[in-house]
Amino acid sequence: MERRPTKREPAESDLDRARRLDAADPLAPFRSRFVLPDPSLIYLDGNSLGRLPTASAARLQQEIQQEWAEQLIRGWNRGWYEAPERIGERIAPLIGAAPGQVVVSDSTSVNLYKLVHAALALRPDRHRIVSSTFNFPTDLYVVQGCIAAAGHRHRLDLVASEDEIHLPTEEVIAAIDEETALVTLSHVAFKSGFLHDGARISAAAREAGALILWDLSHSVGAVPVDLDGWGADMAVGCTYKYLNGGPGAPAFLYVAHAIQAACRSPIQGWFGQQAPFDFDLAYHPAPGVRRFLVGTPPVLSLAAIEPALDLHHEAGMEPIRRKSVALSEFLLDLFDRRLVPLGFSLGSPRNADHRGSHLSLRHSDAYRICRALIEEVGVLPDFRAPDHIRLGLAPLYLGFEQLHEAVVRLEQVVREDLHLRYPSARLSVT
Ligand SMILES: *Cc1c(COP(=O)(O)O)cnc(C)c1O
Repeated sequence: MERRPTKREPAESDLDRARRLDAADPLAPFRSRFVLPDPSLIYLDGNSLGRLPTASAARLQQEIQQEWAEQLIRGWNRGWYEAPERIGERIAPLIGAAPGQVVVSDSTSVNLYKLVHAALALRPDRHRIVSSTFNFPTDLYVVQGCIAAAGHRHRLDLVASEDEIHLPTEEVIAAIDEETALVTLSHVAFKSGFLHDGARISAAAREAGALILWDLSHSVGAVPVDLDGWGADMAVGCTYKYLNGGPGAPAFLYVAHAIQAACRSPIQGWFGQQAPFDFDLAYHPAPGVRRFLVGTPPVLSLAAIEPALDLHHEAGMEPIRRKSVALSEFLLDLFDRRLVPLGFSLGSPRNADHRGSHLSLRHSDAYRICRALIEEVGVLPDFRAPDHIRLGLAPLYLGFEQLHEAVVRLEQVVREDLHLRYPSARLSVT
């Protein structure tokens, strides 16, 4: 028998693989739905501020020219008044909420304040609040403020991570007891990207008779969330991160149907009153989740959110999550082979089941490397103290070839010592 010479396939280069993944990516066309003034810029901070959708830019122009300039006060009866609820209902399916439980209002911090107050009032005989060292600092400040406002009757217990990357579900659950009034956690940790098991922790809180309040800021729009399915009580989250709602866009809040009637907002504003335009002198809360509205909503900012949400509905959360995982796995592979030798270590979970949609790379010179990436080579990540470079992977506008190029530019910064041109002193916003 004649032996055919074995021909070895040339190994596929990283760039070829990136291009192959882009060609097979069903979400690739969504990139063209965003305003991209500098196509060479690689934007890896969609977990802090999403890009501008083309449709939002057009909608804002229309809002200014027609609705503000021409309609003036009549706009309130032509869609402005209902906007906080209408947009809340558009967010609801992205977080597993049936209608009537989500409104858009204020900032995440303010919404958290309202809900923590309401939760503590529902459990007057319990005096513990459980959170974690992974929670976003504003959340902990708000909780500390609520404890002070309630007369220092509560104790805040923080579950700590041993490796600063993971926070095992068992450890969180073990901290919840019969004394616990409230458990409040960031679903995805802002530094390491660790993803909590929403279902198991919500169930554990319920079994102990505690309430659970999730902060979804780093998960909404990137990671599937199932609040109703988990049996969660409350949630808050940003619209300006993966949802691309625009800088300072108002946040959302969720209160489960089962507890709405018993909940009171500590900020009793007229937009949460049952009939604001009766100008009644006594406050009667609106039925349902609307009672957590406070004052006049930011109409222009609300207008930008709606077309942005259309993109998420069109794409679907499952495909978005699938691509997010594929992007992070691709990046991890490049990281292991090409960045570890340059002194980087991984600050995020290796297992995609425990990871949100950003990866944290640690390096002793992280801050200066970040500066050089931004100012020398057109890559925009962000820096979180002490040594994390966060790379946010927003599936609607980031492709594999760009991610590959980001790694090439990162290698260049370190190899050519471009970061040594920058001082170690930090700018005020990192
Ligand atoms: C971004 C973020 C916030 C921000 O809160 P604001 O009130 O909008 O400034 C809060 N919590 C988490 C978990 C975040 O990631």
